[in-house]
Amino acid sequence: MAGLYIHIPFCRQACTYCDFHFSTNTKRKEEVLSAMQRELELRAEELKGATIDTIYFGGGTPSLIAIEELASMLRTMRERFTIATDPEITLEANPDDITEERLAAWKAAGITRISLGTQSFREERLRFMGRAHTANEAIRSIDLIAKASFASWTIDLIYGLPDMGLPEWDEQLTIALDHGMPHLSAYCLTVEPRTALAHQVKKGLVKEADDADQSAQFDRLMERMDTAGLDHYEISNFGRSGHYSRHNTSYWNGAHYLGIGPSAHSFDGRTRRWNVRSNAAYTKGVDTGGTYWESETLSAADRTNERLMTGLRTQWGVDLSAIEHDILNIHSSAVQGHVSKGHLQVRDGRLVLSKAGRHFADRIASDLFVVAHDR
Ligand code: SF4
Repeated sequence: MAGLYIHIPFCRQACTYCDFHFSTNTKRKEEVLSAMQRELELRAEELKGATIDTIYFGGGTPSLIAIEELASMLRTMRERFTIATDPEITLEANPDDITEERLAAWKAAGITRISLGTQSFREERLRFMGRAHTANEAIRSIDLIAKASFASWTIDLIYGLPDMGLPEWDEQLTIALDHGMPHLSAYCLTVEPRTALAHQVKKGLVKEADDADQSAQFDRLMERMDTAGLDHYEISNFGRSGHYSRHNTSYWNGAHYLGIGPSAHSFDGRTRRWNVRSNAAYTKGVDTGGTYWESETLSAADRTNERLMTGLRTQWGVDLSAIEHDILNIHSSAVQGHVSKGHLQVRDGRLVLSKAGRHFADRIASDLFVVAHDR
């Protein structure tokens, strides 16, 4: 089984915290999208013999492109790739693009899952983050999606905002749960370098939230989702049974995937490849047969470290028999240290974080990283 990731590199406006690749200039949208169609055709060979189980339209803002542009890409995929009989096909959408008609057209084109970029239900927070939609649009779009009978849907929310207290976070989660969401991706705000938010922080215009507040909000998130019956299956992801993201779960389990479009990443089990983060350079590269990507072949140590980094973030943990290093032996004292603090468990041949350990997932993973000469 393998996946396809399609990066649509356009947004209506720039959110202040965002460091994904996108452009707000849509003048050359058709050229970029036809280069992406060509990339799909050119690279179909790379997944020859594999069945595509999941397709993910991310970005950027995939809901900005016309239905016919989306349908045309899906037609190319069906012609060039072997697609599973019941694929999960996700479309990321923003609330300002949601109408009953568009939802019906996406469904007719084959989309099975909508991922809605809600982020907040408070007007002042949406303005602070530079989002293009309003709080009313966020709620209205959720209600429309819930009625549209997709196989699944999910929303994104952001916590850890400056001066956010538990009452505000509780209110956000209550609104989301009251509207029947079967899956939630909740991200703690991080200040990425070279974003408008980083600039505001540097100038003293915005004060970052305290770690203790962010940590309390993460605890409240786990508690509320647990009570509501959503499984915490990855650090930032909660879903009811049958509603986990198949695409992301395969990615965390090391599945192969092809990434199409500017900045998209691909992985074939050994090599990572990433396309250039420029719409113009990407289009020119595809059109002229030039090189528009870089790649790196992972060493055994890289492969182990990636499995630790992604696996520890999931409820299934890291299958010790599936990695190429004897972590329990190489890092016996670090493993023991985290186990004795109650942050890590070794059970059934797997390394799994405890609930308390989920606060420190990245730190624990990096403590267990191996270097090239480890065996
Ligand atoms: S809509 Fe999404 S991709 Fe576009 S700027 Fe905002 S957060 Fe980034």
